Amino acid sequence: MTSSRFISLKEALSHSPLEVEKTNKKVSEYYGINVFNDRAMREYLPDDVYKSISENIERSEQIEKKVADQVASAMRAWAISKGATHYTHWFLPLNGATAEKHDAFFHPSSDNRNIEQFDGSKLVQQEPDASSLPSGGLRNTFEARGYSAWDPSSPAFIMDSTLCIPTIFVSYTGDALDFKTPLIKSLSFIDNIATDVCQLFDRSITRVIATLGWEQEYFLVDESLYYMRPDLVMTGRTLTGHAPAKGQQLEDHYFGAIAPRVKAFMTEFEIEAWKLGIPVKTRHNEVAPNQFELAPVYEEANIAIDHNQLVMVVMEKIARKHKFRILFHEKPFAGVNGSGKHNNWSLATNTGKNLLSPGHTPKTNLLFLTFFVNFIKSVYNHSDLLRGAIASAGNDHRLGANEAPPAIISIFIGTQLTKVLDELERKVKDRKMTPDEKTELKLNIGKIPQIILDNTDRNRTSPIAFTGNKFEFRAVGSSANCGPAMIVLNSILAQQLKEFKSTLDKAMEKGEDKDEAIFKILRNYIKESRPILFEGNNYSDEWVKEASKRGLSNFKNTPEALSSYVSDSTVKLFEENNIFSRKELEARWEIRHENYAKVIQIESRVLGDLAGNHIIPTAIRYQNILVDNVKGLKEILTSEQFEEQAELQKYIIGKISEHTTEIRKGVKEMIEKRKIANSFEEADKRSFHYCNEVKPYLESIRYHVDKLELLVDDEMWTLPKYRELLFIK
Ligand code: ADP
Ligand code: MG
Repeated sequence: MTSSRFISLKEALSHSPLEVEKTNKKVSEYYGINVFNDRAMREYLPDDVYKSISENIERSEQIEKKVADQVASAMRAWAISKGATHYTHWFLPLNGATAEKHDAFFHPSSDNRNIEQFDGSKLVQQEPDASSLPSGGLRNTFEARGYSAWDPSSPAFIMDSTLCIPTIFVSYTGDALDFKTPLIKSLSFIDNIATDVCQLFDRSITRVIATLGWEQEYFLVDESLYYMRPDLVMTGRTLTGHAPAKGQQLEDHYFGAIAPRVKAFMTEFEIEAWKLGIPVKTRHNEVAPNQFELAPVYEEANIAIDHNQLVMVVMEKIARKHKFRILFHEKPFAGVNGSGKHNNWSLATNTGKNLLSPGHTPKTNLLFLTFFVNFIKSVYNHSDLLRGAIASAGNDHRLGANEAPPAIISIFIGTQLTKVLDELERKVKDRKMTPDEKTELKLNIGKIPQIILDNTDRNRTSPIAFTGNKFEFRAVGSSANCGPAMIVLNSILAQQLKEFKSTLDKAMEKGEDKDEAIFKILRNYIKESRPILFEGNNYSDEWVKEASKRGLSNFKNTPEALSSYVSDSTVKLFEENNIFSRKELEARWEIRHENYAKVIQIESRVLGDLAGNHIIPTAIRYQNILVDNVKGLKEILTSEQFEEQAELQKYIIGKISEHTTEIRKGVKEMIEKRKIANSFEEADKRSFHYCNEVKPYLESIRYHVDKLELLVDDEMWTLPKYRELLFIK
């Protein structure tokens, strides 16, 4: 970077703590020290209370007032011993962030004996008001109260001297206003039904837990450069910027050595994460320059989601300390790979079994196949809802952009399992099967474990891939809360298992053999669900055509994808099983349409400002220099010489006029389109208008800005360029 217009990168570097304080401690010595975990509970609670609360948590039961009081006072003592001064209910509202409202433990009392207070009632429930958080019309102002209620299944933790208590957040009327409430309901739904199904195979299975291992991708940019990009500051992504001469084509960043500055940042946030009991495990450079990934060991889904939200907050904080800004946006740089958040999802039992992991015997493998095939069927039935769950303005840029799965939902299972399903479909008969036929089938099913071990093919282009013992849902956006995706996966499989169980019960009532009945049902499911299975290249144009032939949806943008949120099948699924009421679904649908419209509105305004305040003035200033130059040349040169020597300048002058005129025209039209969009009362009409009428201008205006970036003197260009933003030294 030669230009003096920027605070020099050197200066930024000198502020950046390249070295992290050495703790000299083993991670195991400080892992979880900031969490009110099992160890802390054991230490701070009387034995009987500890036993009782552990059992409550294990069985997801209500907690008695007396127990809550004792837990609260233990929590307080523990937190104060660690220097905490405040406490807060910590929840995940529908704006996608985390919310906290801090209260001090300290409370001056009437008799002048100041004491530290925090009892069971404050632990269990609070009324943070928080009426400005999105509710989708679920809260009228006259009953704007929102309540947060303790979620004992996710442990409390200390951050910045504040005891944070994970809670759900609901309205006065009991409608969910957060991601956690429906998640917990969906977890209990899948627990109940999956346990029923497991009991058919193994009586010792009494509990099923959904597990989630997320992989978080993100970008880092230098803080001083970040502040010079109003678009990054305001929207989290660059709205202009020509692709650098060198991008990711050399593939030299992926898994490469991590730059020392970045390494220092990673080391420090990992220590903080470990203290918070977040089991972060792997870190590496991603495909794009300045792009990185972090993944923990998987956990129970509710805790994994809390940890993901928490880790994002911690990363943001530590990034600032290291003079970076962290970008969780799905597509911060056009033409450069975007960021996702792969959700690795599976089901574990109380007996330590992974239900999506093939076993060693025909019996355990029939259990595996039951869950495997039901999962495929459930995705086939509700693929539109899954697409809706991961829809956002940011993710729209990423899905189908040749680096991320397309907007078409399909499942990859690998050639070996495809063969297993093919065989099941072929060999199961409608008529009563002979003992030999059944034995053969079971023998083949018993062979699945070896097959999986040999199965090294991996399809990185699929939105949902089976990876040996779990499904990896890759379409989730990097900035998203995993909640919506997890709620849908849990619920659709549970619903499907319910149907499976009732079909099976009926067959068995008619005297059919259990295994044979299961074979038949699974065979039918395989037949019906075929269209959702795809082994080929999801990035290809052929797949788009093929998918359309198969009748699979391809919702290209968020407003379209959101229709599935309020479709009949979605409402039926969620209402029937008490996860969401229609009203709650409509609220979520509305919030997401509103959010979409706001994002495009802000991007459009920021681009208009950039054009008016940065791009056009700079281009004109440079053009003036050229004009002066041309005038001067005309004075001193003969007309032939002038024709020859001023040709380039005149060409650039013309080009600058052409592009600035187009930019001005585009911005004016875009503002008119925004006015129309804003005039719509209904959230969906507004978001559709923003999508179809306003958003295209972001592209067309940008085109001309990026052309100007190549024409104007580098020294004058006010915005840091991609080549400067993207290569941390
Ligand atoms: P990659 O997809 O990058 O090749 P891995 O296959 O090693 O990586 O694992 C990716 C993620 O899958 C990790 O975050 C891990 O915690 C998670 N994972 C592994 N087993 C399970 C499981 N049973 N349930 C949920 N997540 C799991
Ligand atoms: Mg992965």
